[in-house]
Amino acid sequence: MYAFNYHRPASVAEAVKILKASSDGRCLAGGMSLIPTMKHRLSSSSDLIDLNGIKELSYIRREGDQLVIGALARHVEIADSAEVKKSIPALAALAGGVGDPQVRNRGTFCGSLCFADPAADCPAGLVGLNGTVITDKRRIAADQFFEGLYETALEKGEIVTGVSFPIPEKAGWAKFANLASRYAIVAVMVAKTGGTARVAVTGAKASVFRVAEMEAALAKNFSAAALDGIKVSSAGMNGDLHGDPDYRANLVSVMAKRAVQAS
Ligand SMILES: Cc1cc2nc3c(=O)[nH]c(=O)nc-3n(C[C@H](O)[C@H](O)[C@H](O)COP(=O)(O)OP(=O)(O)OC[C@H]3O[C@@H](n4cnc5c(N)ncnc54)[C@H](O)[C@@H]3O)c2cc1C
Repeated sequence: MYAFNYHRPASVAEAVKILKASSDGRCLAGGMSLIPTMKHRLSSSSDLIDLNGIKELSYIRREGDQLVIGALARHVEIADSAEVKKSIPALAALAGGVGDPQVRNRGTFCGSLCFADPAADCPAGLVGLNGTVITDKRRIAADQFFEGLYETALEKGEIVTGVSFPIPEKAGWAKFANLASRYAIVAVMVAKTGGTARVAVTGAKASVFRVAEMEAALAKNFSAAALDGIKVSSAGMNGDLHGDPDYRANLVSVMAKRAVQAS
């Protein structure tokens, strides 16, 4: 690990000030992704701004027709939250299937969004549920947040303070996990709101993506049968020892149906 300066601010305003004053600072949330990359010298930072002392970021609450989750809410808190289970049970299911108990006890939903790992679950949750990322200076719609492999729309010095989700009529989550890491080989979030449907896939490409043909079919008839015969092209899909592109393309169809059945 390379040397760095450590800060533990008590407010978002203080964190933003330190981050902006640093030459190459980064926020630390659960540390589940950041610390391993630093330990292996795959990343270095001039300053680590530890968000864990900022109490205002630890919350899960309903605000009108939105479920709002603070940047320090851990996966386990989301999985166990009575409010999340009532408002969007699929989101509780997603959080409950992230990694292992150690990862869920420290890792945060928002940290996962910021990291933008192509196999992470949370990006599919954000996009499938049409969420909004809230930062210290603006709101970013799910469809504008991810820009590619480990790339997001966040600007230098911008801190995510939370994420909000409109409450869908129905939503379902299905994940085909790598049994060793628990990361998704393919996972799908589906949601129905009024006459619209969303289908977001993670694990299959460099970044989370939506499947327009499935969304159109589910908007007319939100049932697994509506997805019969819809094939997804394997072009651009990931291939590795866990599954080649054709295998992943087939899994998208299978997991999308399972997600609808789970809703
Ligand atoms: C063994 C293992 C298994 C895992 N399995 C899964 C899995 O099955 N599914 C899955 O989705 N994930 C999995 N993860 C990742 C886990 O979900 C992490 O919680 C997540 O990737 C990062 O969240 P974190 O809070 O630990 O963020 P950190 O590691 O602290 O930060 C990650 C990145 O986001 C930035 N960041 C964090 N918070 C903010 C913020 N508020 N504002 C701006 N930038 C911020 C940091 O600067 C850093 O660049 C796994 C991790 C491990 C170690």
